[in-house]
Amino acid sequence: MRVATLGLHHESNTFAPVPATLEQFLASGPDVGDGLIAKYAESQATLAGFIEAAAADDEVELVPLLSFDLNPMGTITAEALDAILARLLAALEEGGPWDAVLLALHGAAASEVHRDADGEVLERVRKLVGDHVPIGVTYDMHANVSPRMIECADIVNIYLTNPHLDPRLRARQCADLVFGVVRGEIHPTMALEKPPVAVNILRQGTSDSPMKELCALATEAAQRPGVLSVSIAEGFPYADVEEMGMAFLAVTDGDPELAREIAQELARAAWAVRTELEGDGVDIDVALRHAALAEAHPVVLLDVGDNVGGGSPADSTHVLAAAQRLGVRGLFHSLCDPGSVVVCEKAGVGSTVELNVGGKTDDLHGGPVTVRGTVRMLDSGKFEDAGPTHGGFRFYDAGPRALIHTEDDHMVLLTSLPRGNTSRQELVSAGLDPLTQPIIVAKGVHSPRATYEPIAAEMIQLNTPGCTSADIGALEYQYRRRPMFPYEREAQYE
Ligand SMILES: [Zn+2]
Repeated sequence: MRVATLGLHHESNTFAPVPATLEQFLASGPDVGDGLIAKYAESQATLAGFIEAAAADDEVELVPLLSFDLNPMGTITAEALDAILARLLAALEEGGPWDAVLLALHGAAASEVHRDADGEVLERVRKLVGDHVPIGVTYDMHANVSPRMIECADIVNIYLTNPHLDPRLRARQCADLVFGVVRGEIHPTMALEKPPVAVNILRQGTSDSPMKELCALATEAAQRPGVLSVSIAEGFPYADVEEMGMAFLAVTDGDPELAREIAQELARAAWAVRTELEGDGVDIDVALRHAALAEAHPVVLLDVGDNVGGGSPADSTHVLAAAQRLGVRGLFHSLCDPGSVVVCEKAGVGSTVELNVGGKTDDLHGGPVTVRGTVRMLDSGKFEDAGPTHGGFRFYDAGPRALIHTEDDHMVLLTSLPRGNTSRQELVSAGLDPLTQPIIVAKGVHSPRATYEPIAAEMIQLNTPGCTSADIGALEYQYRRRPMFPYEREAQYE
């Protein structure tokens, strides 16, 4: 059984200032052939699950073609999606014929031309391989699932954890089912249900209510006879697309009625708790004053408005500026500011610098903040984390970094690439002990939890402004469905 695997992983924040260009995709990949195996086999990512499933099945020869993976940012340019599609399809065509295709897609990719970019990829792959070749896809839980994304595949499943700790497991299950389809052992049929509801980013944690209970329902339904897989997509509210919002998906063995029943049952359960899916962050000043007086450390402040994993620029200064204004000391705070890193490199370790850091991408995320302090460390920004991390990532690259110990006792870590704070090794590799930091500012909402929950005295979600602000009602949508909860509170679901 020859099985092609390929991927395109991008979460497009259509409100974010920096578009996802071809240049950026090419700077971070693609991973090709054995390089794809080397990068992913030992990780917890989607492709690792495909690789694991193939390795466990004597009859399967997995052929790693190529995979594009770019960290979340703005809309994909038309040129970039065209070029990526051309390369994916050419590799598929040249390497064929195939017995099956496994795709690692995100589900919230949007291009200037194709707002349903994942659906476009799938439709083109389907056209190329034909109807008789089974296609399996595993999506991120933030997928905005379109009917086309289901119609053009045979098996679809979605992560069931946020922070995402199960991509490998879900992909393994997807691949095993696809192998079963090739052997004629199962005949999958899928049903998709999309009630008109968006989940606030603050309520997307799957270990908290009500997502915890909804995911438990999905897991329970997946055990019923004849059911192959059940998924929930939380959706990505920062993509202004028609399919934005929650989705419920059931895959059964030749029983479309059962699939529809389960998808609708879950959708009704979510609709019933829709007011619990709304969220409000804590005011920055309130949280900083609270953290300054806290007896147990570290207090982790989640910078929701600069949620880099949601496409923001990683240089928001709202929290740092507020700390300076309030006289709150002892922050660990990272900022993407390649220009300031260069200044620190020229000055050297041990020298005193005065810099205007961060706030340079746009005017949504605060202006540059003046810091004075000592350059404590310079490095390449590459580090590794074998522990549990969001998305199962292991190898990190923040680009050249500089750590400044400021005169008001903050540790400001300047990076050259936009990165959220999803690994404690980020601090350790910079010579800092995460346990002794009084206050850690983590740019993200759920992605920092896997690494920080085990050590944080408390974690507080901030209502910081920015292109990933928790205040989703303030986003100016053009394409989403209307009416939709919570934007139009009178929205109905039958
Ligand atoms: Zn996600």
